[in-house]
Amino acid sequence: MLLKDERDELCGIGRRLAGTGLVTGSAGNVSVRSGDLVAVTPGGMMLDRMAPADCPVVDMSARLVEGERAPSSETPMHLALYEATPAAAIVHTHSTYGAVVATTMSELPPIHYNTLLLGGVVRVAEYATYGTPELAENVRAAMAGGKRAALMANHGGVAIGRDLDEAFENARLLEWLCGVYVRAKTIGEPRVLTDEELARVVERGLTPPEFPRVT
Ligand SMILES: [Zn+2]
Repeated sequence: MLLKDERDELCGIGRRLAGTGLVTGSAGNVSVRSGDLVAVTPGGMMLDRMAPADCPVVDMSARLVEGERAPSSETPMHLALYEATPAAAIVHTHSTYGAVVATTMSELPPIHYNTLLLGGVVRVAEYATYGTPELAENVRAAMAGGKRAALMANHGGVAIGRDLDEAFENARLLEWLCGVYVRAKTIGEPRVLTDEELARVVERGLTPPEFPRVT
């Protein structure tokens, strides 16, 4: 089986996404890259009920290389992000607070310094129908400039990482930041950190971990 370890990992992350409530049912998708191949979750399947053989392997042109099931409908977005960033893994969810912010705002302001771990202000990609090349392009644009996460208008969020664990943690951080923002709005106007305040945090060393150089 091609990418056996990676497909095992996809199943583990699927269970964690369901267990933490970031994903309900099949409303999310995950992928991991190894060289020129990508193992991705199948379309329309509960993420906590997948077996490794359920996860198809595609090449960078979205051609099915191995697997019985069809790749997730958002595979074009995953491939666009692998092309545009050094990501080795991608997690996309419809997590609640991420979807709330993505439905109401054009960006998530930096209200907590940990937003720097995602590359600062999180942009909301312009709306496009799910699974389309337009959506893939909009998300790629929102992720430009070294971002580790983006929101997708009226849809959800996406996070990248050097491996699946990191992409998962970035997705969890994105949801936490959105949750803090939304809850803060219920009791007042959240104070947004200034560029200077954020610069001082960067000086203390809080920046996203470097991606390995792609050779
Ligand atoms: Zn989606």
